[in-house]
Amino acid sequence: MASRNRHKARELRRLLKGLPVRFLTLDQFPDIPPVEEDGATFRANAVKKGLQVSRRTILPVLAEDSGLEVRALGGRPGVRSARFVGERASDQANVAKLLKVMAPVPESRRQARFVCVMALSVGGKLIRTFEGECPGSIASAAAGRTGFGYDPVFIPRGRLETMAQLGAAVKDAVSHRAKAAAQLKNWLRGR
Ligand code: IMP
Repeated sequence: MASRNRHKARELRRLLKGLPVRFLTLDQFPDIPPVEEDGATFRANAVKKGLQVSRRTILPVLAEDSGLEVRALGGRPGVRSARFVGERASDQANVAKLLKVMAPVPESRRQARFVCVMALSVGGKLIRTFEGECPGSIASAAAGRTGFGYDPVFIPRGRLETMAQLGAAVKDAVSHRAKAAAQLKNWLRGR
């Protein structure tokens, strides 16, 4: 997994459980330098990360880029979700900024979606990408303790609580990452 994000790695391990695969993360490859995520789309970033890392190892590489698109903000924070406040911003700071800019937006216009793109690469070649999205809306205040990132302010469509209140089992059933992982699993099974 071309990631150093422990939350993502934990979710991916959970979601891809059952595959006859042992996952390593970039924490186990300290010599591989970080990849600059400067693409305009989640797909571009996932492909870039995957290709760059897969040139440095003979192992198949699964990269993923994900984030939150808020309709009233024209799709922001989007590919800048982790850096909404600035470089190395904390989840709490990003959430606080989102709540602040969304404060004047009425409930009927708070639609958003999480997006996840995974890229599978081997030996510097892109094999395939897999995409998932999770529609929902932005809560008026943070609530809940599970998950990471914007989970405390994201209410999945059809639910009344935030992703952080709903917990890991619900998240694994409805999330953008779960949908992309399901596609990846299906594709692997078909081979
Ligand atoms: P990346 O490491 O550049 O892909 O950063 C993704 C950022 O998007 C994270 O730091 C979170 O802010 C946000 N994000 C992605 N997936 C999730 C999720 O499942 N829940 C909450 N926030 C997420």
